[in-house]
Parts: sequence; structure tokens; C-alpha cells
Amino acid sequence: MEARILAEFQAIVGGRGLISSPEELHTYECDGLTNFRVMPRAVLLPNSTDQVQAIVRICQRERIPFVARGSGTGLSGGALPVENGIVISLARMNRILDVDFPNARVVVEPGVINLDVTGRVSPQKRLCGLSRPALVRHRTAPHESPMRHSNGKSHLHGPSGLRLLQ
Ligand SMILES: Cc1cc2nc3c(=O)[nH]c(=O)nc-3n(C[C@H](O)[C@H](O)[C@H](O)COP(=O)(O)OP(=O)(O)OC[C@H]3O[C@@H](n4cnc5c(N)ncnc54)[C@H](O)[C@@H]3O)c2cc1C
Repeated sequence: MEARILAEFQAIVGGRGLISSPEELHTYECDGLTNFRVMPRAVLLPNSTDQVQAIVRICQRERIPFVARGSGTGLSGGALPVENGIVISLARMNRILDVDFPNARVVVEPGVINLDVTGRVSPQKRLCGLSRPALVRHRTAPHESPMRHSNGKSHLHGPSGLRLLQ
């Protein structure tokens, strides 16, 4: 990848938000489906929506393919990098933005892990899980598990792509 593009990425996410050394990139060459591996050109770790937008704009301008990655635990290769592309890891976007108990609704950033949602709601005797679903607009894996899931794509799909939470 051209140095000028890397410099632009770095200006957006800061030094610690850009991974480009081959040793570190190996971590991101596959997800839970380890049979297939593609080394990304770079991995970016934004910590805000604005940063994600700025990164994607550059990708669009430079025709760089990108793949979003949560915790990389998917088993179907969805987070497998595209050849000559970059990975946008949402792991640093891990804030719980709003917990609305009366409406059983939680709004979170995409990198929030399931266990943290459960920890936040458990004082109210609520669990993040599969039964008694109610609609929630977030992307956290909605089953109770200590695994580091950061989205619910392959767990539950409600109408219009909404995620479900107990
Ligand atoms: C040991 C194990 C047990 C499991 N058990 C269960 C289970 O009991 N029930 C169950 O339903 N599933 C289970 N899973 C699968 C689980 O659904 C996935 O691992 C999980 O959804 C992946 O979440 P992730 O954040 O790690 O996403 P990744 O693996 O990083 O990505 C998965 C896909 O989502 C995309 N993506 C990730 N984040 C975003 C985002 N913010 N915006 C847009 N796209 C995004 C990626 O590009 C990729 O296509 C299990 C997996 C493992 C490894």
C-alpha cells in the first residue's frame, strides 16, 4: 500500500490505530474459519463513527476493498480479508451508549462484547440471552457467553435486521 495512503489512515486513527507490520497482521489473516487465510494490507482500529466514515471514504476513493471485523470469531470466513484489502476492526468501539430497562433496549457501539452487556444489565436481574426476545437496535451478540462476540449477525435476526435481546 502506498505510503501516502497509510499516512492518511494514520492521521485518522493515530499511531496505535494502524497495524501494518507483517508480524502483527498475521492475527487478522483469518477468523474462526482458519482453513482460509489472506494477509490484509493494513488493519485499522477506529474508535468512533467519524473515524470509520473517514476510513471508508478513503477506501472508496482509492478503490481499496475493506472488511469489517468484530472479534474475529465467526466460523464462516465473513471476516476473511479481501486480497489487497484492509480490515477495519471495530474492537475499540466498545461503549454501551444507553440502557433502557423499561423497553428492554440497549444501544451499543459495534465492538461491545456480550459479556459486558450482561454485566451492565445483571444488577437489574436482566440477562443478554436468547429467550423472551424483545427488539433492540444494536449489534451485540445476544446470547450469554463469555466469548468475545461483538455483533449479532449470525445469532438472531429480527425484522428489518434488528437484533434481539432478552
Ligand atoms: C466457539 C464458538 C461458539 C459459537 N457459538 C455460537 C452460538 O452458540 N450461537 C451463535 O449464534 N453463534 C455462535 N458462534 C458464532 C458467532 O455467531 C460468531 O462467532 C459471531 O457472530 C462473530 O462475531 P464477531 O464480532 O467475532 O464478528 P467477526 O467474526 O469479526 O465477523 C463476522 C462477520 O460480521 C462482519 N462484521 C463484524 N462486525 C461488523 C460490524 N460492526 N458491522 C458490519 N459487519 C460486521 C464481518 O465482516 C463478518 O462478515 C460461535 C462461534 C464460536 C467460535
